[in-house]
Amino acid sequence: MAYKIEITKAERSRVNDVDFDNIPFGRTFSDHMFVADYQNGSWTNPRIVPFGYFQMHPSSLVLHYGQAIFEGMKASKSIDGKPLFFRPEMHAKRFNTSAQRMCMPDFPEDLFVQALHELVAIDQEWIPAKEGSALYIRPYMFANGEFIGVQPSDTYQMIIFTGPVGPYYPKPVRLLVADEFVRAVPGGVGEAKTAGNYAASLLPAKLAKEQGFDQVLWMDAFEFKYIQEAGTMNIFFVIDGTVVTPATDGAILKGITRDTILRILRNKGYKVEERPLTIDEVITAQGEGKLSEVFGTGTAAVVAHVADFTHKGVTYGLPPVAEREIGELVKNEINGLRAGTIEDENGWVVPVEALTPVHSR
Ligand SMILES: *Cc1c(COP(=O)(O)O)cnc(C)c1O
Repeated sequence: MAYKIEITKAERSRVNDVDFDNIPFGRTFSDHMFVADYQNGSWTNPRIVPFGYFQMHPSSLVLHYGQAIFEGMKASKSIDGKPLFFRPEMHAKRFNTSAQRMCMPDFPEDLFVQALHELVAIDQEWIPAKEGSALYIRPYMFANGEFIGVQPSDTYQMIIFTGPVGPYYPKPVRLLVADEFVRAVPGGVGEAKTAGNYAASLLPAKLAKEQGFDQVLWMDAFEFKYIQEAGTMNIFFVIDGTVVTPATDGAILKGITRDTILRILRNKGYKVEERPLTIDEVITAQGEGKLSEVFGTGTAAVVAHVADFTHKGVTYGLPPVAEREIGELVKNEINGLRAGTIEDENGWVVPVEALTPVHSR
């Protein structure tokens, strides 16, 4: 059943003010946003309104105790101009996994997906056409209860806004293997896309940057031995021809790109392992010339190749990117699916379709 989403259109579109050949990442926002309120135990008043500021009460619980979750996803345009989502229902599901851990209410998955369709249909002019560019989509939910006691809020707001992003050409990243700070522990909130995880990572990331690194390679919190993630990306290693990624253990964010890559590689017959992986095993493999690739994965970059990693003051290099087969293969595969140039056999690509005819008011 479709929900009734009230639509108020912006008086004037700002889309012609944007230089689509030079889009600064994360600073350009489309004309509209979706908003819904949680009150008296249910989600009410789902609506699309002009993008803009909103007021908050100074005691809003999120500002004090951090009940806040988000998603990050993209809509792209196929080469024949059709707007497409990639695995949108996976993002709806993960949003609720995050919500449950943060003691927040579920957001109906069908409303989440319908809101995406309605919002992106209205702002489809904002989807950059250039290959590798996309409309970045940011769904989020926060506690807005007006109360300063530590307790779960009884009111929340859910918002989705979007903004165009240019192609992401990351140069190969340099990783610093964590040996002091940790990102997450099993039993903690590492599996939730919740604000505090990112706040906690800012200082270690800043210190790593000051030393010339791009990202921290997070390790387990007990022994600094088992590899978790790189910055805000999942991480893959190719060791002696086998693709290995750390098994999720409660402290690792379950990336949708990670899942997509595992499925693509298994379908193509690559040897793939999800298992605990130690930094010592990786260093040994590098020393024996068996470490052919390391790459991070996530919605933003799809694949970010690793140039080298530094552990206890020793830097271990990787072969040149031109020799990396698997990272390039999965990146081209995902970009091709998003551009409609590779046939989608898995039902991952979903054409954007508004249910509500777009009416002006
Ligand atoms: C979002 C995120 C990822 C990647 O998830 P995708 O669904 O692939 O974008 C990986 N690690 C962390 C910590 C994240 O927040």
